[in-house]
Amino acid sequence: MTQESKSAELPYRVLSYYHYVRIENPAALVQSQRDLCQELDLKGRVLIGREGINGTVSGSTEAAAGYMHAMRDAALTREMEFKVDGAPGHVFARLSIKERPEVVTLGLPPGEDIDPRKRTGRHLTPSEFQELMETEEVVLLDGRNRYESDLGRFRGAICPDVEHFRDFPAWIRKNLGALKDRKILTYCTGGIRCEKLTGFLLHEGFTDVCQLRGGILDYGSDPEVQGRDFEGLCYVFDERIGVEVNRTESRRIISRCRHCGKLSPRYRNCGWPQCNAQFFCCQGCEGEFGRFCSVACREKKENQAMAGHPGEKG
Ligand SMILES: [Zn+2]
Ligand SMILES: [Zn+2]
Repeated sequence: MTQESKSAELPYRVLSYYHYVRIENPAALVQSQRDLCQELDLKGRVLIGREGINGTVSGSTEAAAGYMHAMRDAALTREMEFKVDGAPGHVFARLSIKERPEVVTLGLPPGEDIDPRKRTGRHLTPSEFQELMETEEVVLLDGRNRYESDLGRFRGAICPDVEHFRDFPAWIRKNLGALKDRKILTYCTGGIRCEKLTGFLLHEGFTDVCQLRGGILDYGSDPEVQGRDFEGLCYVFDERIGVEVNRTESRRIISRCRHCGKLSPRYRNCGWPQCNAQFFCCQGCEGEFGRFCSVACREKKENQAMAGHPGEKG
């Protein structure tokens, strides 16, 4: 049985989507989205701003269908494209719908932000992206944060050492200045960040800028490319943490356990609250060391427990 048909048989759906569109009254859309999601018992995270809407929600197959239907019935979200994945249950613990000044933040000064509806890189389908990667001398740029590319990335990609998307402008100015006449291919999880990132690259004088339409998620579900050349898992911002992308023989894990160095895609947060570092930890080492990134962090937590102070997060 293929991955896709296995996924389709699961009782829940995870929907992810974005749409850059002028929203005159974000607060009203927040309210109507909250009503809709509560009615359908959807959980997840939705961000709404004057520049658009971005969300990932989980719910029963029926609820997910109802949500997509309702979105396509509303003028603002009529053209929404959804990425749909199967799941055994909810992948979020709760529902959060928030208004934000921007749905994606490059951190540029007011008035200088990129409007992807006006300027963005050329969109490539998964097949076009894969073909260019293989046949041309391209610069492959990962448009995500370091903790995401550490879990998985396209083979040969440049993975910026940044912790936030707003760090990209400075990082690009510092590191990519010599590549302005090269063909740049960017990718991110679902495509929303690349819309702005490629707009920024064009603004900076890069001449040949393309982006992977639908991001890594669509690349993984595309029946033709089947995630080829993607290594490791795709980081996602829900309880799953990582999802499979590459469905070909070349799939492999690239991340290594912090403690023993064995290949492992298991991401954990250090159990010492002041550290909270995200690190890879294999099952065996988690049993042995507990959920700590280091012996030092475990000892701090143990000393605190002995001193009778409750941990910050219990
Ligand atoms: Zn280990
Ligand atoms: Zn730690």
